[in-house]
Amino acid sequence: MPADFPYLDPSIEVERRVDDLLSRMTLAEKVGQMLQLDARQDLAEIIHDKLAGSILHTSPAKLIEASELLARTRLKIPLLTAEDCIHGHSFWPGATIFPSQLAMAATWDPELLERVARATAVEVSATGIHQTFSPVLCIARDLRWGRVDETFGEDPLLISDLGAAMIRGYQGRGLTDPTGILATAKHFAGYSETQGGRDASEADISRRKLRSWFLPPFERAAKEGCQVFMLGYQSMDGVPITANKWLLNDVLKQEWGFTGTLITDWDNVGRMVWEQKVCADYAEASALAVKAGNDLVMTTPAFFEGAQEAVQRGILAESDIDAAARRILRLKFELGLFENPRTPDADRQREVIGCAEHVDLNLEIARRSLVLLRNDGTLPIDPAAGARRIAVLGPNADDVSAQLGDWAGNSGQVGWMPDGHPRELTATVLDGLRAGVPDGWTVTYERGADVERLVPDPEGETFPDGQPRPPISESAPVDPARIAAAAHLAAESDYAVVVVGDTVNLTGEGCSTATLELLGGQIALLDAVAATGTPMIVVLVNSKPLALPPSALGAAAIVQTFNPGMRGGQALTELLLGAIEPSGRLPISAARHVGQQPVYYNQLRGQHGTRYADLTQDPLFAFGEGLSYTTVVYDGLTIGEPDVPADGVVRATVRLSNTGTRPALETVQAYVSDLVTSVTWASRELKGYRQVTVPAGESVTVEIEIPAAECTLVDADCRRVVEPGDFELLVGPNSRLSALQSAKFRIS
Ligand code: BGC
Repeated sequence: MPADFPYLDPSIEVERRVDDLLSRMTLAEKVGQMLQLDARQDLAEIIHDKLAGSILHTSPAKLIEASELLARTRLKIPLLTAEDCIHGHSFWPGATIFPSQLAMAATWDPELLERVARATAVEVSATGIHQTFSPVLCIARDLRWGRVDETFGEDPLLISDLGAAMIRGYQGRGLTDPTGILATAKHFAGYSETQGGRDASEADISRRKLRSWFLPPFERAAKEGCQVFMLGYQSMDGVPITANKWLLNDVLKQEWGFTGTLITDWDNVGRMVWEQKVCADYAEASALAVKAGNDLVMTTPAFFEGAQEAVQRGILAESDIDAAARRILRLKFELGLFENPRTPDADRQREVIGCAEHVDLNLEIARRSLVLLRNDGTLPIDPAAGARRIAVLGPNADDVSAQLGDWAGNSGQVGWMPDGHPRELTATVLDGLRAGVPDGWTVTYERGADVERLVPDPEGETFPDGQPRPPISESAPVDPARIAAAAHLAAESDYAVVVVGDTVNLTGEGCSTATLELLGGQIALLDAVAATGTPMIVVLVNSKPLALPPSALGAAAIVQTFNPGMRGGQALTELLLGAIEPSGRLPISAARHVGQQPVYYNQLRGQHGTRYADLTQDPLFAFGEGLSYTTVVYDGLTIGEPDVPADGVVRATVRLSNTGTRPALETVQAYVSDLVTSVTWASRELKGYRQVTVPAGESVTVEIEIPAAECTLVDADCRRVVEPGDFELLVGPNSRLSALQSAKFRIS
């Protein structure tokens, strides 16, 4: 190939390089650029036969093979490589695995999440991966959904802030930053509005509902310069998301001005043929997807033939393929991949993968993510109070995979890490306590119960598209002998730390749950330990909030960790022993019973009564809840000027008094209630939050500012507007009305 082809000359402006390259490409090559294929399959076929421009799920060994194969292609267009690095570099042996997104959200600290995303990008970029499929901006609605762990919880503002922070962290200084990776905002949009929690079902969702709750985090991501948007799987009002021209084109590209790359989710184009059955064949499905504005087509190899056939049949214009190929090539030029294909860098990997700085950051975020939900004063355990015996019990006390959660090592998505991440990198709760208690204390362990046993799905080992079908998780039988052994240990100890929750088989895609109960022998274990009278500390290592039995709710203390990542057990030990203060706050509400779904705090006004005949609607734990080792009293909420012009700012102050003997890191939450609205609207919505340290025995005054322009609703014509009139500002430590101070203001 002559070296003087203009597209190879970096001194020429990008658009001209793209023009030149496109003019040299065949239709097949252009279609190939639109393909992102699964590198676990035959790479030679992917790169040489399907001419794929992009790959995902590429093992360390295959990343090297891919470069070699690419060198033998006609135009040597660099590959774009992508991976699900959603809480760390998930599938890179030895990488830093941070807490799950849901756990990180419990910090309510965008700056900290930005640092986590930055560290992840530093590790990922050293390995030859250019794009991460993160962050997830879906709002959690039905807790039965298997992917709640991947979300930032249930509130659009918190999701927007944390998502924007992660996008900044991943993308670093921009496309030319060698430590930057492309962020992917997913799953655009409405995927989490499931039917009964079932994954990827039709989402019963109107455009107004989308604009009210589901779209704001994505709009923010587009403003933040997120380079890639990924679709979900759902259909809305009968239209598969892959064909939703209104959302993909009119809203995302036209209204929000998004000029980045749009990628489908896994085999979305194929699904329109074999699953949703809205297209007769791959030519039709390919034409529909391209015309709706999709650029990269994830893992539909038949798109290669389908799109070309669609052009031949005249149902798709070649210029539509050109437009998508142009966007992809532009991205590759802007990333500088033609000059530096950013292939794996072994030296940098040695320096940054799992480095001490990232381990420290992981510990910092694990500490901040822990949520103390109940405490009768048993915690913290005083390390100076003489030798103590601690019984560590329960199936998740020493379970690395439950602690790391989904999308990590051997969680099921890839096959090259059958044993997961190196064991010594993770401190389970048992490891943490063994290493962390003072000399002379004893830590004993009994598992006591199993959560599940796995049985093959009678419908077969694979789905119709050949993807592996997960095994069925059956509740494990109660084993009275093991429970008795655990209870015996508890009875002989000063404290029983019982670690319960769920497993990765009860988490993730296609793994939604029908119940929210603790499965297997866990409830029997909690009951038996509670009956011993030994102070019981319940530690929840779970992908999502679960309903808890009375024995757990009556425990001396409850700590929610979600999936706390590699340093989780160490952070928890520090919390139990009072070396750190609990500061996490729930980013999601917990239900008392699965039948309370949905239980999120920002429900619309209007229903007969306030409860079920047989159960309260009150959540078990509410959005924003979390305790400190001290008590902070809120009072004196005052709004400076209660008459606020539409372009003005609501300015308020509130006093926080720490009435205890330990400091608190308090998350001051400000909600707004629009008192009369032209359409039904949420009774209150989070509009701001601030984290402040309140020293023991002291008071601080906290200033709150909320622009009137944020006090919006989406009206019957789907417009986001501020409706002048009376509002209430509600400020306090969580979303419960009983916990909030209130003051009125008026927007004119
Ligand atoms: C998931 C995405 C993920 C993709 C690639 C899909 O099934 O929905 O979230 O990024 O697979 O692994």
